[in-house]
Amino acid sequence: MTTVRKYFHHIGGQQVPPSNNKFIERLNPANHQLVAAWPDGSSSDVDCAVDAATIAFNDGRWSDRTGAQRAEVLYKIASLLRTEYRQLGLIECQETGKPLKQAEEEIAWSADIWEWAAGLARSVHGDSHSNLGPHRLGLVLKEPVGVVGLITPWNYPLVVLSQKLPYALAAGCSVVIKPSEMTSGTTLELARLLEASGLPAGVVNVVTGTGPVVGQRMAEHPDIRLISFTGSTATGRKIVQASSSNMKKVVLELGGKNPSVVFADADFDAAVDGAIKGFVYNAGEECCSGSRVIVERPIADRFVKAVCDKLGAIKVGDPLDPDTRMGAIISETQYQKIRNYVEDGKKCGKLVYGGAELSQLPGFFMEPTVFTDVPVTSALAREEVFGPVVTIVPFDTLDEAISIANDTQYGLAASVWSSSLTTAIAVSRRLQAGMIWVNTFMDVPSEMPIGGMKQSGYGREHGRYGLDDYLSIKSIVIQNPTHLDRYVG
Ligand code: NAD
Repeated sequence: MTTVRKYFHHIGGQQVPPSNNKFIERLNPANHQLVAAWPDGSSSDVDCAVDAATIAFNDGRWSDRTGAQRAEVLYKIASLLRTEYRQLGLIECQETGKPLKQAEEEIAWSADIWEWAAGLARSVHGDSHSNLGPHRLGLVLKEPVGVVGLITPWNYPLVVLSQKLPYALAAGCSVVIKPSEMTSGTTLELARLLEASGLPAGVVNVVTGTGPVVGQRMAEHPDIRLISFTGSTATGRKIVQASSSNMKKVVLELGGKNPSVVFADADFDAAVDGAIKGFVYNAGEECCSGSRVIVERPIADRFVKAVCDKLGAIKVGDPLDPDTRMGAIISETQYQKIRNYVEDGKKCGKLVYGGAELSQLPGFFMEPTVFTDVPVTSALAREEVFGPVVTIVPFDTLDEAISIANDTQYGLAASVWSSSLTTAIAVSRRLQAGMIWVNTFMDVPSEMPIGGMKQSGYGREHGRYGLDDYLSIKSIVIQNPTHLDRYVG
């Protein structure tokens, strides 16, 4: 029997019930059992949270702390995440339907990002200009932008939050967070850990609820100076529009239709394994999912066969089973969306693996599914499916491979598989994507920046660039008045 967790908003260090007394109930998508409930917040709840964050920012309780003091708190949070990884992993497993083992690994991954960002807290510094003449000095300061809003999706709830929050805190900002209405549990649990770490109350506030209400109000709010958003390109567009009222900064991490280009000289088994991981990991509900595999023609048929042969080893089902590699799809809506793409694919292309409904399982489960001979103009070939579905297409020349790979509105990630470093570098430089993997897939060290080109968004997270968006640049020109070039004489 699952214990149902009931949460309130986290505002000003308090558990605050929703002003409308409404709650969202979350059912585990792997078995339809009720696992949690959190507030279905209103715009006035957002206003309360922004007020708390604004007071906290203006009185300097966090923004005035030294980099070393901020780092100490961020390291403490990382350590608490590592201590509670089992409990937090189970919550993510129940709310997302992903395998428990993977969910636990994601908590450790999140802790690693907090540790990296903690180190960066001490590195924030500006610049000086001593070449403006003997009586002038220029100073460039980097200051926290103020109150920031973080809006996150459901596919990696704590990891995506960790790609934003520790950087915002390292910079000295105060924060209002809106997690996905389907997976708010670990964000609210993190709020508890933040208090335990010594982070002053009011610096981080969490308001749960739907995008069109809570998210929209955050994007419009005049006192929020920056929105960092991860989610779909369609929602990103709405956030840009809503944010224009006060010209706030917007950072967007959006969708992808990510190509993997496999050359005939690649390590064949490694490339097959990478292609499978690319669309099976997290049931393909992955912004960097390798949903398009482009294979050099001499090995294309053998490649398709090898992928299909190995997919039999992917266990789909109970997320609590340690052998499960693919858990449930997040919701019925997402499940139906993926099924529609599969049905379209059957009409326009050739289904070579999977595609069947797994109705014997108690939740929303999909088989890994492989298509070939899909026209490049079809919806399946062009749109983000966000499910365990891949299209495999052959190419004859390097130029053709690049042309197919770049023929998309997206530009998030891509991979190249070749034993020739010359080929790998040449192709990497021509691919239009913010993250390129050579002979590997979905390898995201905290040191390396991530982010999109084209309609996959703008701004960068992770790496030393992860801080930049949370800092404003201020120039100060200092003149010795004795040597001032007088305006009126
Ligand atoms: P989504 O856009 O539906 O929702 C994301 C968040 O935005 C949720 O919290 C949602 O409540 C909120 N939202 C919805 N409408 C809103 C509005 N009008 N105003 C403000 N907020 C609103 O995305 P999703 O379905 O949760 O996540 C899947 C998408 O996220 C995919 O497109 C995927 O590619 C993308 N994603 C991108 C990255 C990346 O790093 N680029 C990482 C993970 C997911």
